[in-house]
Amino acid sequence: MKNIYLLGATGSIGTQTLDVIRQHPDKFRLVAFSAGRNIQLTQVIIEEFQPSYVSVISEEDAKKLSHLYPAIHFGFGSEGLITVATYDEVPGDEHFVLSAVMGSVGLLPTLKAIEMRRTIGIANKETLVTAGHLVMEKAKQYGVKLLPVDSEHSAIYQCLQGEDSKAVKKLIITASGGSFRDYTREMLQNVTREQALNHPNWSMGAKITIDSASMMNKGLEVIEAHWLFDMPYDRIETILHRQSIIHSMVEFEDTSIIAHLGTPDMRIPIQFAMSYPERIDLKQAKSLNLAEVGTLEFKPMDFERFPCLKMAYDAGRMGGSCPTVLNAANEAAVDLFLRNKISFLGIEEVVYEALSAHQTITNPTLDEILEIDCDVRKNIMTKYE
Ligand code: NDP
Ligand code: MG
Repeated sequence: MKNIYLLGATGSIGTQTLDVIRQHPDKFRLVAFSAGRNIQLTQVIIEEFQPSYVSVISEEDAKKLSHLYPAIHFGFGSEGLITVATYDEVPGDEHFVLSAVMGSVGLLPTLKAIEMRRTIGIANKETLVTAGHLVMEKAKQYGVKLLPVDSEHSAIYQCLQGEDSKAVKKLIITASGGSFRDYTREMLQNVTREQALNHPNWSMGAKITIDSASMMNKGLEVIEAHWLFDMPYDRIETILHRQSIIHSMVEFEDTSIIAHLGTPDMRIPIQFAMSYPERIDLKQAKSLNLAEVGTLEFKPMDFERFPCLKMAYDAGRMGGSCPTVLNAANEAAVDLFLRNKISFLGIEEVVYEALSAHQTITNPTLDEILEIDCDVRKNIMTKYE
């Protein structure tokens, strides 16, 4: 029995993780989880899974819940997130933390879980973008496995099973193109929040759906792959593959390419990470019908059409504190766009401005990262709110 500590249970990845747990009650037990502001869904999850510890964003909500469920412990805020990741009141054979919160708030709980030597399934890419060097260094120090949940990285991880990492020539990350893949730059000028939230292939949380439309998501994924697979940026390629059937590929020294194929269902990579190294049955997952698919289509990536992807490569190559700025500025910009304070193309402008104004710090410490993250957001909010 694996004890599961789930950060972000009320989100898109979180609820799909609960579905995997629901299917395998003999293998997984939800011990602790965090939610944000969706208290109604929090109650539904509590009643179904009877966890021991739950954390929410606000103290007021935590108080209300503890009156309703006196047998459960409640926490709130960033301390609560850390408690979920490190909760150790329930004995178990194995402990697995799944980080599915949105944004760099996932950083501290991830670092603390590593110190507890817990295996971590990481959907929360912003944590690796904002402080990849610290997370990977700590994981190495404590001998902790970080198992990717993002579909592209799970695909690459699976393509690498049993392979010699020294024989890898490059990683090839596929991109569906997001909601605006058929739009020109001119057409992007007046797109609305509702149009951007309408992703053609995947149903996901609001922030990542906007990131997919701007192609920043692919940029964040390039940085995520750089850290997870210790791969230099010039050996990480991105390619447009609108069907989302190949989830990513690895090319080896002998030019062989291994690809991972499947239907777009996030429960597959979630469960792969949770059950690793075992591969188990997933009910209701649909097999891919290749005869129905017929052909696979690819197109080169156009960096002028998708400047956010280019900015992410550049920030990754610059290294140091640049990816921290890229991530914080993007989180703030997407939030502004979702609240109709800036236009869709405003997102890339806000990120560009923040990167241009930043003096890079090489090898930033945790404190420096937290400070930069906070300052970048504050500056943007002061200017655009
Ligand atoms: P959602 O927005 O659907 O869910 C986010 C979760 O985090 C919710 O439980 C939300 O709580 C909680 N949350 C948000 N902000 C905070 C905060 N400040 N403090 C504590 N909790 C918070 O996002 P997704 O599930 O789509 O994405 C989660 C992560 O997984 C992201 O990093 C994303 O990039 C990554 N990912 C997602 C994929 C997908 O298919 N959705 C695919 C690959 C990666 P509440 O709703 O209760 O307020
Ligand atoms: Mg992805």
